[in-house]
Amino acid sequence: MEAAIDLHIHSALSPCSDDDMTPNNIVNMALLNGLHAIAVTDHNSCDNVEAVMKVAKDRLVVVPGMELQTREEVHLLAYFKDMSSLYSFRTQMEQYYNGIPNNPDFFGHQWIMNELDEITGERQQSLLTSLSLSFEDTVELIRRHQGLPVPAHINKPSYSVLSQLGFLPPDLGLTLLEFSQNFPFDFLDYPNSKFLISSDAHELGQILHGKMTIPVENITIEGIYMYLSRCFI
Ligand SMILES: [Zn+2]
Ligand SMILES: [Zn+2]
Repeated sequence: MEAAIDLHIHSALSPCSDDDMTPNNIVNMALLNGLHAIAVTDHNSCDNVEAVMKVAKDRLVVVPGMELQTREEVHLLAYFKDMSSLYSFRTQMEQYYNGIPNNPDFFGHQWIMNELDEITGERQQSLLTSLSLSFEDTVELIRRHQGLPVPAHINKPSYSVLSQLGFLPPDLGLTLLEFSQNFPFDFLDYPNSKFLISSDAHELGQILHGKMTIPVENITIEGIYMYLSRCFI
């Protein structure tokens, strides 16, 4: 069966996203748009993923994920097979925070929310800065936790592997690439790769409307994860 997905959505935890990117609003908009699966991929953090899962229940699959910013200012998505893998990855990853505090008046708030959309906390550490971890080492850390590394919005002229490194490192086996719907792209430039198109939504109105579908055996986290895994040859 075909699953309509959008695997790159930011919640109100990301300082650059709207404050109304709450767990309930994200899930309801995804359902209205006919999606079967989403991932909430906040910058260098994942504190709202569980709340989104609780809201979604069995109505929508929420794939555990995150969007990392490496030392070279490359954005790299990571998808995991379950929450415990995501959390064990987070524990390791947080050792590479740079210690810069967020300035909410300038960059925006970093809200942690529960399944009732109540604010339960705010991240003080700036999430919109680079980890002190190289692109290559971040890929390795993701894989050590059975995560799937996917270079984000490679057609974006900033914060992408191509804009920052100038090329896709050929030895890392990164055969699944994400394109942002917001910039022009041509799949023919990457004949040996598989692709995801995602919204990188920072506002509710940006979430995809079934533009990206994938063939899966089951519309579950495991089914989506298995499809993504098979894209790595
Ligand atoms: Zn990004
Ligand atoms: Zn993003």
